[in-house]
Amino acid sequence: MEKNIQAIRGMHDVLPSQTRHWQYLEACVREVLGRYGYQEVRMPIVEFTELFKRSIGEVTDIVEKEMYTFEDRNGDRLTLRPEGTAGCVRAVLEHGLLHNQTQRLWYQGPMFRHERPQKGRYRQFQQIGVETFGMAGPDIDAELIFITARLWKALGIDGLELQLNSLGTAEERAAYRQELVAYFGCHHDALDEDSRRRLHSNPLRILDTKNPDMAELVAGAPVLADLLGEGSRRHFEQLQTLLKAAGVRFVFNPRLVRGLDYYSLTVFEWVTDRLGAQGTVCAGGRYDSLVAQLGGRSTPAVGFAMGVERLIALLEADGRLPETARADIYLVQRGEAARREALVLAERVRDALPQLRVLAHCGNGAFKAQFKRADHSGARIALVLGEDELARGEIGIKHLRNKLPQEAVAVDCLVGRLAEIFDKS
Ligand code: ATP
Ligand code: MG
Repeated sequence: MEKNIQAIRGMHDVLPSQTRHWQYLEACVREVLGRYGYQEVRMPIVEFTELFKRSIGEVTDIVEKEMYTFEDRNGDRLTLRPEGTAGCVRAVLEHGLLHNQTQRLWYQGPMFRHERPQKGRYRQFQQIGVETFGMAGPDIDAELIFITARLWKALGIDGLELQLNSLGTAEERAAYRQELVAYFGCHHDALDEDSRRRLHSNPLRILDTKNPDMAELVAGAPVLADLLGEGSRRHFEQLQTLLKAAGVRFVFNPRLVRGLDYYSLTVFEWVTDRLGAQGTVCAGGRYDSLVAQLGGRSTPAVGFAMGVERLIALLEADGRLPETARADIYLVQRGEAARREALVLAERVRDALPQLRVLAHCGNGAFKAQFKRADHSGARIALVLGEDELARGEIGIKHLRNKLPQEAVAVDCLVGRLAEIFDKS
């Protein structure tokens, strides 16, 4: 026998018992973002490879080793999107959405990164992302953080820590870069292979290392906050004032640099210690230079992305998720003519009582086996249509969750009787 084909490592099915969780989270996000006036945008999953190279940066984990890149039949270099910001900027530029206007956008969908799969780290994973354009001040940075804080509240997630840092301007980072090169250069022997490579190409990335052996060295590195100029400092202070005024707690994390090249000024992450090493559930920041970098007019921008699998893992750990939806009614039938009538009846019930979930048994099967399925479906009642009932123009109502005796009602009275039964619950 041939071997079964399995899903690709690091890529997972979301089964019916879990889709409820996803839908619950998505509904919460949609509701909260709607209340802030954000609009959904949907981009393709595949883009030209060049887009990601130009935006995320050549010397990043993602572009160096994590992208799913291939040549299509025309010989175009394409990539499964590893994140949503680049595609979103491409889309707003392509459709002229930045001409004299601000934008508040969000999207959701799968992202692809060839990482080492482990708990909370997958090769296909889901992000919900938010991007705003045309607003330069710390007020919009604060608004994004308020949105996330409100979302945690709506979902019932607590215990997340908000970490903040400022990456300053390009010039300030250039000065910082020199200090870092000098510092890490003095500790060359302690650097791992990745970091040695990055020492000259992109030393800030060394701070973002996931290698625990490097933790101590990174902890002793110079701090960018000390090199911030007046403008950057003011932006950062104003953001902190806004957060304090709204009662949003945060901690300053001078090592927070984020894994992508395009950030400037504000960067933030929401972190938990309950998910092991994969503790960041939401990350974002300002990227004022990206729009110009991709060919548009210089436009301030700030956004964030949430890792849906990690948020769901948190909700599951806390038992915060809704039960899987159960059927209300299971329709049991037996005999050729009854089967036909049963399907029509089920439709009639669905027309009249749209709030009820009606499962109709399909195909043959002994009554006993059908009642077993009815029980398993969670339905409160089974409707029973056999040849006897059909001959009398009646239908049986069997109460599955209490000791009430089975009833028989005229088919024409069924909807009325069901309304009564379910009204009482
Ligand atoms: P990490 O530091 O965990 O690698 P990152 O900085 O690469 O994250 P971003 O590119 O900022 O992550 O993506 C935003 C969020 O998407 C992350 O905070 C995380 O919740 C989620 N995420 C990123 N990569 C993965 C992945 N491979 N599997 C599952 N979720 C992920
Ligand atoms: Mg990463």
